[in-house]
Amino acid sequence: MSSEDVQCSSKTKRLHFLLIPLMEQGHMIPMVDLARLLTAHDSLVTFATSPVNLNRIRPIIDQAAASSLPIRFVELRFPVVDVGLPEGCESIDLLPSVDLILIFMNALSLLRNSLEAYLRIPNKAGWPKPDCLISDNHHHWTVDVARSLNIPRLIFHGPSCFFLLCDHLINRHRAELEAAVAAASDGFTVLQGLPHPIRISKQDVFTLSPLDPDKSKYKETIRVAEESADGVLVNSFMELEPKNFERYREEKSKPVWPVGPLSLYKEDLDVKAARGRASSIDNKILFQWLDRQEVGSVVLVSFGSIVRNTMAQLIELGHGLEASGRPFIWVVKEVMEENVPGAEVWITEFEKMVEGRGMIIRGWAPQAVILGHVAVGGFVTHCGWNSILEALATGVVMATWPHFYDQFLNERLVVEVLKSGVAVGIEQTDYLGVEKHNEAKVKVRREEVERVVENLMGGGEAGEERRQRARELGRQARAAMEEGGSSWKGLQDVINYVSEHQRKYQGENISY
Ligand code: UDP
Repeated sequence: MSSEDVQCSSKTKRLHFLLIPLMEQGHMIPMVDLARLLTAHDSLVTFATSPVNLNRIRPIIDQAAASSLPIRFVELRFPVVDVGLPEGCESIDLLPSVDLILIFMNALSLLRNSLEAYLRIPNKAGWPKPDCLISDNHHHWTVDVARSLNIPRLIFHGPSCFFLLCDHLINRHRAELEAAVAAASDGFTVLQGLPHPIRISKQDVFTLSPLDPDKSKYKETIRVAEESADGVLVNSFMELEPKNFERYREEKSKPVWPVGPLSLYKEDLDVKAARGRASSIDNKILFQWLDRQEVGSVVLVSFGSIVRNTMAQLIELGHGLEASGRPFIWVVKEVMEENVPGAEVWITEFEKMVEGRGMIIRGWAPQAVILGHVAVGGFVTHCGWNSILEALATGVVMATWPHFYDQFLNERLVVEVLKSGVAVGIEQTDYLGVEKHNEAKVKVRREEVERVVENLMGGGEAGEERRQRARELGRQARAAMEEGGSSWKGLQDVINYVSEHQRKYQGENISY
């Protein structure tokens, strides 16, 4: 890209966004989508992250270069070994234990030196200094970087406004909620203050407002950094949760822009299939198989990037899928226990047993594109926000199987508020690593899996109503991302906001 292209493709100065994602697939993937969308809005983007994460998105980087997209991918040194993390553990899903997450989070500020060093280097390609920094809310250390550059700092939030509001309210009313759940015979209380009140459990209260002083200190640091941000971008869309957006804006007293579902950005199938990581399956084989299935007949089962199941649970799930009689795609990650004898043998045998009707993807699946295929009608999900949004965006109904953190609240949004899903019936956190200490290796028996899949894909009149609502949400999601739609305007408003700031403070940009 010539310096002329950089300066004046549309006869006006192109804005330059500096993006810093959290290194976790559920945060990295939408931020890469955001980078590409910003270029479609005629902006320049510098995308800065650590070497392991850059390697994972290599197909996207190569494609961006081949299409001359104005995105620079910048490598930031992340010295994880210095804080006692294993070499190469530069993403949360690569951590060998959940006990290391807080160390990882506290280590994020180590990226700062590398970023500042990069910003000091004069660039020969004629790229201007950044006009705006957009960082994941976990990168609290970016406050000082934006301040030094005298540019706005916007926060990118992975989850929905619904969750952000729950988090905000639970932390504000922690003492009363703690007392209410302790006094309740079923351990639940109603979270007031939401446009659509929901029941929350003791687990929800303590997950979002942790008692552990180190976790609570970390949360407070993030909260303070968020207070000083100029605005917030949310990967959600207005039509999905208009009142939550309204309430969250009131609470934060700053602009909150809807920009999603980011998974709907227009792109070639091959590029989209490489979101996050290169697919572990030959996409041609996958799509030939999907093309042979009836419309809306296939169930996708996938639990995101972090969740790991026990071997015993895997076996129950497999048999339940088999018994359901429905065609399925099952994404299988490595099992939770180390060195389980026979894990691979069992999966291979199972694969043979369901050949033709079931497809197993070991490792990384092109999830968003699978969900977008007309053959897919249902999704058994762990309720990570991106997975939910990808299903909503494609009008697919869900069977909700939460494991930890925000997933339980996300489930309530899908089942109780949006009414486009059925709950598998999990109530307790089942975190990677925690389960190792528990007796129960199986949370959901095969008969239960079979019953839930039947309810999801059939379900009589209630099932048809769920599918209609899901289809309608999908239509609204796609309209939101079209030119002139609510999320398209949301991103345009971000650009206008930064332009305005840039005009006001032109010439005051400070160099490192
Ligand atoms: N994903 C994928 N292939 C996989 C597993 C996950 O493409 O095999 C993507 C999925 O589409 C989503 C993200 O990884 O965009 C996972 O984010 P989510 O918030 O759903 O869950 P998390 O991994 O953070 O628990």
